[in-house]
Amino acid sequence: MRGTVIIGGGQAGFQTAVSLRAEGYSEPIAIVGEEAHLPYQRPPLSKGMLTGKQQERHAVLRPADFYVAQRIDLITGTRVESLDPASCSVSLAGGQRLEYDSLVLATGARNRLLPGAERALYLRTLGEAAEARARIAVAASIAVIGGGFIGLEVAAAARTLGKPVTVIEAAPRLMARVLAPVVSEYFRQRHEEHGVRILLNASVERIEKDEVVLVDGTRVPAELLIVGIGVAPNVELASSAGLDVANGICVDEHLRTVDPRIFAIGDCAEYENVYAGVRLRLESVQNAVDQAVSVAQAIVGRGTAYDSVPWFWSDQFDIRMQMAGIGTGFDQVVTRGDLESRKFSVFYYRGGELKAIDSLNCPAEHLLARKIIAARASISPEQAADESFDLRTAIS
Ligand code: FAD
Repeated sequence: MRGTVIIGGGQAGFQTAVSLRAEGYSEPIAIVGEEAHLPYQRPPLSKGMLTGKQQERHAVLRPADFYVAQRIDLITGTRVESLDPASCSVSLAGGQRLEYDSLVLATGARNRLLPGAERALYLRTLGEAAEARARIAVAASIAVIGGGFIGLEVAAAARTLGKPVTVIEAAPRLMARVLAPVVSEYFRQRHEEHGVRILLNASVERIEKDEVVLVDGTRVPAELLIVGIGVAPNVELASSAGLDVANGICVDEHLRTVDPRIFAIGDCAEYENVYAGVRLRLESVQNAVDQAVSVAQAIVGRGTAYDSVPWFWSDQFDIRMQMAGIGTGFDQVVTRGDLESRKFSVFYYRGGELKAIDSLNCPAEHLLARKIIAARASISPEQAADESFDLRTAIS
């Protein structure tokens, strides 16, 4: 076959195939995915699937007959072992070889492993979520290493089930990589209010059978240990094929690698983000979906430079936080709304320019935030903080 071969059957790979057909692409499409499941979305894995509110069927993106109807050749449980750009072909485990006109690398990322934590659970796949759910149900004590989004979502889910949970975070505050101190502190208070024990500036000395021992001697009960300390992009296939790789597979503004027939998207791709003004790699559903749509358009010859507004969400207890833009490197932060009301937004500025907005339990303000960031609207910190200032006027 030729046509388009997509490596990776996650959010980005799935969406590429769907968008190609929506764009009227009639050539063959194959998705080769290492996981044995139908393509599924990952957000429920650290949220509803742990509490039992959601089942595997809620995560699966489309039933098997969808792929047949759309003439998408879905090859699951099979790894692409090598890529040969010279002959425009990939080799699958088992020996099958597929030729392509266009190739999309949507290989995602894998969990970073904590040395010495062999008994720990990690959370990336449906199988891991099912195991975490079963083990949380019977665990007398749970320690979560990593106070990032996934660690905190897991802690919230386990606490919702009434389990004693401790979060061990090496940094001085939660989700410090992306959030302003005011938001980190807000989440710390909400977690503690729900009975989660939060340990900051906490370095792990060693992992024992039922405990985690910290450098300061604190012993944390950990019959079940869950680790969420970030991910590493799956770039090996690209690098061994001679494609450029940095903190991800390097692509241009059309999401093309140095080989014009090969694209890379989603968690595995590093690109120039026009809102941040730097090259970066994002790990979000928005990024995976919008980049897939953009690549499908490029493949059918209707491509434009990729410039979607980054956005993300996280659910912890009764808090839905939605982020628009890229706030890293901020030098000023203002809050709009009253933290006590538990509905507010935080505006991130760099050099006087609005870069990002986090909205907590304010879904309408988040939708507006995406438009504000897309329009690069000028809103001063004073206006942002003033609730009588109508944000809509900034984009009208
Ligand atoms: P992936 O979903 O990782 O898919 C890549 C696929 O490629 C994998 O199935 C992998 O096995 C396969 N693969 C890799 N190499 C090969 C190969 N050589 N051959 C064949 N197949 C291969 N984002 C949000 O915006 N909001 C959330 O609330 C949120 N919650 C999340 C919760 C969890 C537990 C996790 C893990 C992620 C969450 N994310 C969330 C992030 C979001 O799910 C990811 O950014 C998104 O799934 C990225 O999609 P992707 O297709 O790039 O990568």
